[in-house]
This record gives sequence, C-alpha cells and structure tokens, in this order.
Amino acid sequence: MVVTHGDISKAADLMGLSGGIVCLHSSLKSFGMVEEGARSIMNGLLNKDITVVVPTFYNGAVVAPPPGKQILRNGTDYSLLPEAGEVAPYKPVPCMIEKSMGVIPAFVLKMKECVRGDHPVNSFSAIGPKAQDIIECQKPLDVYAPFRKLYDKDDAFIVLAGVDLTKTTAIHFAEQLAGRRLFRAWARISDGDIQETEVGSCSDGFNRLREFTDPIEKSICVGESLWRVFPFREFIDTVTQAIKDNQSITHCGDMNCLRCNDAVKGGPVF
Ligand SMILES: [Zn+2]
Repeated sequence: MVVTHGDISKAADLMGLSGGIVCLHSSLKSFGMVEEGARSIMNGLLNKDITVVVPTFYNGAVVAPPPGKQILRNGTDYSLLPEAGEVAPYKPVPCMIEKSMGVIPAFVLKMKECVRGDHPVNSFSAIGPKAQDIIECQKPLDVYAPFRKLYDKDDAFIVLAGVDLTKTTAIHFAEQLAGRRLFRAWARISDGDIQETEVGSCSDGFNRLREFTDPIEKSICVGESLWRVFPFREFIDTVTQAIKDNQSITHCGDMNCLRCNDAVKGGPVF
C-alpha cells in the first residue's frame, strides 16, 4: 500500500488534530511507501489547517565559550569544543540542520512559508496558520518559548510518527518546569560574534517515562507508521510531575554521561 496525502489527512481527522497545532517528531521511513515522500505528509497535514512544529537543530556552529565564560555543571567537556575560527558561522539557511532531525524537518525548512526560530543551535520551525505566533517568541536564551505557547493552547498535540520518546524535545521543557536549569552552549553566528544560548540535555533515557505517558497516549497506524498522539499540556504536566518525583528517571544509564549527571543535579551553576 502506498500512503497518500489523503491518508494523512484522514488520520489527522480521526485523531482530532485538524485545525490544531502538531509538534511532530517523525521517521519518514516508518511510513513505508509514501506517494511523494515528505511532501505528501506535509500536504496531508496542511490541507487540514494544521500548524506543524518541528525541531530543526544544528550543532555545526557550536564552539567553546569566550574566555572566562565557562559555566560549572554545564554537561559539557569544554576541551572537546572547537574554537570559533574552526567552524562556519550559523545562518538560518535550509542546509544548516542536523541529519538526525530527519527528512520531514529538512523538507519543512525548504518550504517558502516556513518560520524558523531565532536560535543558532536548537531552533524550532513551523508552517501553517499559527506558525508565526508560535515561533517568533523563540530567542537564544529562551529556547522553549514556543513550548510555553503550545502549553497555553487547548488544541496543541505531540505526534510521534514512528519514533519514540527519545526524540520528544518537549520533555526538555518539562525538565525545565521540574526545576532544572538549562545547559548553555555557544555558537558562532553570522556577524562573527559568539552567541550564548540555552540548549536541551541528553534524551537517551526518555523512554523510561513511558510508564507515565502510555496511559495518555492514543495511537493509530498510518501506512506502516505507528503514530502516538498526546495532548500537549497533559503530556507536559505528566512528565513534569514524574521528573519532580524522581529526578534520576531521565538518566540514560551511562554513568559517564556528563549531561545526564549534571542535569539530574539540577543543571548549571551560575
Ligand atoms: Zn545521558
């Protein structure tokens, strides 16, 4: 069976997503055969007036902090970071995205109506009727501002299409709400300056939160892709409480993971 944009629209209707906002984490491969690849997925959602938010992270411009700016307990081995002169400056161009974000976010960045957040490392991008409203608040030192917007809306959802909780960046927002300070990273930006930014932590342990998120999950198969759908606010409240109750629940299990070790202790010390 070949998945069409009509199949995507139908699934969106069935899951109550039409007209709403979807924070999408996806594996295009998980769908099996898709008529026109990422274009069909996006058209299927946009035809239902859905605003689609995707992560469009880029690590290629991350550099060592300026002298004297090193922060303690920051989940970072500063000796491993390149100096500013060793990397090309970040520009909000479609090619500056990590391959690990997947085919769909890369496609979204190339759409001319795409709005990309002001963040040289952990930008979010969106397309659809509410894209501007959700994304324009993102700033280098307010990385999860778009998630605060989504939290206030009754029609916002997280959709995991063929991926698991380790891809769910909104859990980093829940870490923040649970009392953790966010790590800082520095990026070379276009005018040659070094920009200090807030960034997320390690997400390799996030599947341990499933025991809390499974009860609020609704699922559907679209082609061969399993979609797991969560109401945004309920998801964040559930995960925030789970982290507050047991800070180590997000730890990936690697006792040498600097980011998890520092995050569990509450994040950086300023
Ligand atoms: Zn870790």
